[in-house]
Amino acid sequence: MPSTKPSTEYAATAARILQTLGVVLPAPAGHDAPLFVHSPIDGSRLAALACTTVPRLQAQLAQAQCVQADWQQVPAPQRGAVVRSFGALVRQHKAALAELISLEVGKIRSESLGEVQEVIDMCDFAQGLSRQLYGLTMPSERPEHHLRETWHPLGVVGIVTAFNFPMAVWAWNAALALVCGNALVWKPSEKAPLSALALHRLLQQALQEAGHAAAISSVVLGHGALGQALVEAPEVRLVSATGSSRMGRAVGQACARHFKRSLLELGGNNAAVVCPSADLALALRAIVFAAAGTAGQRCTTLRRLFIHQSLYADLVQRLQTVYARLPVGNPLAADTLVGPLVDNLALEAMQVALLEAQALGATVHGGQVVASGGGSYVRPALVEMPGHSGPMLRETFAPVLYLLPFADLHEAIALVNASEHGLSASIFTNDLREAELFCSARGADCGIVNVNIGTSGAEIGGAFGGEKATGGGREAGSDAWKGYMRRATNTVNYGHSLPLAQGVQFDV
Ligand code: NAD
Repeated sequence: MPSTKPSTEYAATAARILQTLGVVLPAPAGHDAPLFVHSPIDGSRLAALACTTVPRLQAQLAQAQCVQADWQQVPAPQRGAVVRSFGALVRQHKAALAELISLEVGKIRSESLGEVQEVIDMCDFAQGLSRQLYGLTMPSERPEHHLRETWHPLGVVGIVTAFNFPMAVWAWNAALALVCGNALVWKPSEKAPLSALALHRLLQQALQEAGHAAAISSVVLGHGALGQALVEAPEVRLVSATGSSRMGRAVGQACARHFKRSLLELGGNNAAVVCPSADLALALRAIVFAAAGTAGQRCTTLRRLFIHQSLYADLVQRLQTVYARLPVGNPLAADTLVGPLVDNLALEAMQVALLEAQALGATVHGGQVVASGGGSYVRPALVEMPGHSGPMLRETFAPVLYLLPFADLHEAIALVNASEHGLSASIFTNDLREAELFCSARGADCGIVNVNIGTSGAEIGGAFGGEKATGGGREAGSDAWKGYMRRATNTVNYGHSLPLAQGVQFDV
């Protein structure tokens, strides 16, 4: 495994980036268990941080609730201007933030830069949105009445995020929630607190420069139990949680118990269908990026591929050829396309899935552990399955692509939908009828349904999210902002009589 830097240098680089951004790391005190942060590149320690205690979380929530009252009075376009300034700071520090992502979660440089760009794009989008928080007006059935809806800030938003998009996922939420007039408390993944602290510092700077209270947004550090405390806190009106379906089930139930809103962005077991008319060269590139990119650690990673039987042998051969030459290695090296898995547990889960598939009679190509000197590196795996069963039915957060032939498109659509998740699906075809069927109500039952591109790599302009065990939430573009506001329907009588709706008579 080529290592571009000795391990201690990764910690030094991370410290330098954090210092440049003005981040002061919370130092662990005496007997409290620190939060150790490791680099997936070589397993070396990047930092040891103090976890946020529950009383400290409660204090931050109380402050957030306190400043909420002022923040919601700031005109939305002025809130948008703060988000724009934040975006400008992120643009200024794009390279440093991207490097920190690579160090902390092991993304290749290009994908880390892409993630920071997503933050910038979200700020641009949210700023524009800050002048477009539109409500409808409706004709009233009564004379001299009008009917309209108005949108108001919701209150404190709790944001819980996963390790694999340590900046972008928060930005999808934060940029919208801020222009919508809400204060925020963010609990990032325990595996990626440094990225969170770095990005959040820039928001603090933007708030401060505009003369707003720092407590409008804060970060708390810790494990799932702290996330749970945030979810349960009475101050929090909306919980936006991104992570595994297991986590989402717990969060969803807790929110339901307290009648608070939840926005759940959970796992995916995403599928693509390759039809006889597909442009195979294009499909091949799209499939490899979707399945092996980010080392298979995107919620939208392609995990199940259904190939028309007429193309099956040819496409599998082509995939094997490309997979065999995929450069796996240090994500900071210029030619690497597949970086490390986040940790050894992820590697073990991948090995278990491959053994399970083999026990069912599958043929596995690739999937070997790559010697690494500390990181968890694997060759992405192609798995020819005997049927739609076993590990193919669950999300294994690693680069494993299960392959199955099909004879008829309706059969393939049924297979795509035979998953507990409903995040992303793609079809590769040049047949208009097939493409439109796939996107129709009789097609893929996912929140993201694509034609001639892979399942991953969504743009921020559309609403992002999925159905079933993916949680049903929608974030980022389109009208996802409505999830962060409270809608009031106003009926205004500007006349002198009091006609009742539906012709009801009630004369007193
Ligand atoms: P995870 O579920 O282990 O952790 C996610 C976050 O939830 C962490 O911050 C964790 O501390 C917190 N958490 C855990 N239990 C909690 C609880 N009971 N209450 C509150 N918070 C709790 O997920 P991960 O390993 O960090 O990320 C990988 C998973 O995230 C995959 O399943 C992936 O598909 C999913 N993901 C989904 C999206 C999406 O938009 N749909 C995006 C990124 C990742």
